[in-house]
Amino acid sequence: MRSHYSGEISPELDGKSVTVSGWVHEIRDLGRLKFLILRDREGFIQITAKEGITRSEVLSDIDQLSKESVVEIDGRVKKNEKAPNGVEIIPDRINLISRSESPLPLDVTQKVSSDLDTRLNNRFMDIRKPEISAIFKLRGKILDAGREFLKENGFIEIHTPKIIASASEGGTELFPISYFDREAFLAQSPQLYKQMMMATGLDRVYEITTYFRAEEHDTRRHLNEVTAIDIEMAFIKDEGDVINILEKLVLTMIKEASHCKELDILKREIKVPEKIERIEYDDVLKLLEEHRKKLPWGEDLDTESEKLLGRVMREEFGSDLYFVIHFPLSTKPFYTMPEGERYSRSFDLGYKGVEIASGGQRIHDPKLLLERIKHFNLDPKNFEFYLKAFRYGMPPHGGFGLGIDRVMMQLLDLPIREVVLFPRDRHRLTP
Ligand code: ATP
Ligand code: MG
Repeated sequence: MRSHYSGEISPELDGKSVTVSGWVHEIRDLGRLKFLILRDREGFIQITAKEGITRSEVLSDIDQLSKESVVEIDGRVKKNEKAPNGVEIIPDRINLISRSESPLPLDVTQKVSSDLDTRLNNRFMDIRKPEISAIFKLRGKILDAGREFLKENGFIEIHTPKIIASASEGGTELFPISYFDREAFLAQSPQLYKQMMMATGLDRVYEITTYFRAEEHDTRRHLNEVTAIDIEMAFIKDEGDVINILEKLVLTMIKEASHCKELDILKREIKVPEKIERIEYDDVLKLLEEHRKKLPWGEDLDTESEKLLGRVMREEFGSDLYFVIHFPLSTKPFYTMPEGERYSRSFDLGYKGVEIASGGQRIHDPKLLLERIKHFNLDPKNFEFYLKAFRYGMPPHGGFGLGIDRVMMQLLDLPIREVVLFPRDRHRLTP
């Protein structure tokens, strides 16, 4: 059993016996002096073996090691200003636990760089690189912070089905699967189920989950398997209550990221805004037009508009994050609460020119909901299980879906495939 991670071995432990385990990152053989650089989750530690001091058996064990093998090493800690972190281990015993084959499919030391495809094909090894594992450590930390925030605010964690009988939101972007003798689909979002929870008395819920989008995207920001934080909350006054929660949630997550030591390895600095701008859809159209982009009223923001808006918000308002509020009803799904004839109580959250969340107030009146389902030419029969939950007492409610992959990519300015362990896209299904 390991007694210490590399990061815990400090000069203060000088003279102490320790056991470390990890991967053989590098071996430098200077003849009578051999350095083994051991890598574990926390970093690196230098193992120094010297003829005359180290047992000859240990020296020959080092000669037998291949790079990336897993070893366990017992030794003594020795202060050494010249070693990384000012400390090294003088080995007493080296136990080879699992031998690595060679040649390696990837160079973990990064002396030879690999393209993204090769990296993703060998993702287990790619993640051995400290600057790649840092991405996923950071991802775990901001999720923890988000979860903590939701818990503190009375949200209950739930899990909704991912195998569903019909489309949640209409449209054609579903993956069909065979379910015994029937056809079923992979869920494109928890939407209908989290709304049904509002009829149960569990009036604040959240789910951190994967969903599936079958569009044939080929962009820097779309995947076919998505991870998101979805929430739904009842007894709201309007969508403003939902926006306030999302604002605090996202700022909490970004603040957490800004403190993470992983930022050093990633060579990033993150500034935490105090609040997030809110801008009306109609004003977005005006801003775009001032920058020679004409978007017809009633259309959703296209990629170019999103990018331009991100640039303008940064350059003219100094904001990387901004809510676009009151979208035309025509751009939003059937369950969206109308605001007057043409607008909706909806919002998107943009981050540096990319949508990271969508949400709003939902319709809670079953008659209006049925009307809107018909308006979208959806078959009410498919929604009966959902509509039923609205007929026996349904409070006003709203919520959002916040894409975690999108948050991560914008936070670190990386393409989406870099921040997802095993991305799924049109061309990639393994590993
Ligand atoms: P977009 O317009 O960017 O394609 P959307 O409006 O279709 O996204 P929503 O249905 O609003 O997406 O989903 C809620 C959130 O889930 C999005 O704001 C985004 O963060 C994330 N998301 C949705 N689809 C994808 C996808 N294909 N890849 C990555 N993230 C996604
Ligand atoms: Mg959206």
